Amino acid sequence: MKHLKSMTIPEIGELLKGLNQPAFRAKQIFSWLHKGVQGYDEMTNLPKTLRDTLAEQFPICVPEAVRRQESQKDGTIKFLWKLADGNCVETVLMRYHYGNTVCISTEVGCRMGCAFCASTLGGLVRPLEPYEMLDQVLFTQLESGLPISHIVLMGIGEPLDNLPNVLRFLELVNSPDGMNISMRHISLSTCGLVPKIDELGDLKLQISLAISLHGPTNEIRNRIMPVNKAYPLEELLPACRRYYDKTSRRIHFEYAMIDGVNDSLQNADQLLQLLKGLPAHVNLIPLNHVEESPLKPSSKAAVAAFQKALEKGGVTATVRRTLGSDIDASCGQLRRKYTRQTENH
Ligand code: SAH
Repeated sequence: MKHLKSMTIPEIGELLKGLNQPAFRAKQIFSWLHKGVQGYDEMTNLPKTLRDTLAEQFPICVPEAVRRQESQKDGTIKFLWKLADGNCVETVLMRYHYGNTVCISTEVGCRMGCAFCASTLGGLVRPLEPYEMLDQVLFTQLESGLPISHIVLMGIGEPLDNLPNVLRFLELVNSPDGMNISMRHISLSTCGLVPKIDELGDLKLQISLAISLHGPTNEIRNRIMPVNKAYPLEELLPACRRYYDKTSRRIHFEYAMIDGVNDSLQNADQLLQLLKGLPAHVNLIPLNHVEESPLKPSSKAAVAAFQKALEKGGVTATVRRTLGSDIDASCGQLRRKYTRQTENH
C-alpha cells in the first residue's frame, strides 16, 4: 500500500496529476499529514470530492499509544506505539537542557544479535516505513505537548540495515513544510555496517554519526557483537575516518561498560590506541541490565577510572546520564514486556 505520509511533495504532486488535480494541493496535503491529522476530513482547504477520493485510495495510518510511562525522577516519557499491522515499537522523549529529544525506533526488532541488547532477542520482524519513523516524532510531540527539537536514531533496530527508508525519513522530518527539524539536530547510531557508513558519508548530510563500539579489540567485540565478524575493527575504523573526511563531523563512539568484559584500564589504553588521530568523542554508558542476559554493568568506580584514563590520553569522554531508569527506558525492554504479557492472555 502507498502511504502519502512517506512521500515527498513532488511525489504527491505527480500522484495528483493522475487525479487531474492542481499541483499546489500537494503542499497542502503534505502540511496536513505532517501536522498529524487522523483523516482527510480535517484537511479543510481541500475540495470534498478530493478528500473522498484520497480517503478511498490512501488511508491515513496513525499509531496508537498503548503504553505511556513517565519517569518521576527526570520527566523522561516512554511511549509504546501499536502500528497499523499490530506490531509495536518504542519511542523515548528525553528532556535535555538544549531541547526535547526523541529516541526513535527504525525497525520492528533487529537482526544484529548484540549480546547485551533487548531489542534483538526476537530477531527482526520488519523494517519501519518512513512515515512510521516520522509518526514517532510527530505523535510524541502531540501526545506530550512538548516541542521536539532533536532526534536520535537509537531506539529499536539498526538504522543502516533500513537505509533507504531512514534517508527518506530524514528528508521528510527536515522539510520546511513539515516538522523542519535541522539535520544538525539529528544523530544516527550504528553497530558498524561498513558499506552503509560509506554510502551515508557520500551523501554529506549534516547529521551526527554514532558508532556502537563497546569493545577496543576484535576479540572483545566478537564476543558481544556478531557484526564484528563481518566488519572487524580494521575495517570499521577506516570507514569512520572516511566518514569524517567527507563530512568534517566528529564521530561519537558509544561504549557500554560491562563488568569484567571491556572495562579494565588496559581496555582504556587499547581504546586510546584505536582512536588515535581520529576526531572522536566517547560516550560511556553504564550497561542497562537486561533480564535475559548474564552481562552486568561496571561499577561506578570502574566507569570513572576508565573515563579518567581516556581524558588523560587526550580523548574526550562523557558518561551518559541514565534517564528513565525507573521506567524501563532502555530500548526494547518495554516492547518485550508488552509482547509477553499480551501473548500470555
Ligand atoms: N542498532 C543501532 C541503534 C541502536 S542504538 C546501534 O547499534 O547503534 C542503541 C544503543 O544502545 C546502541 O549503542 C546499543 O549498543 C546500546 N545498547 C543496547 N543495549 C544496551 C544495554 N543493555 N545497555 C546499554 N546500552 C545498550
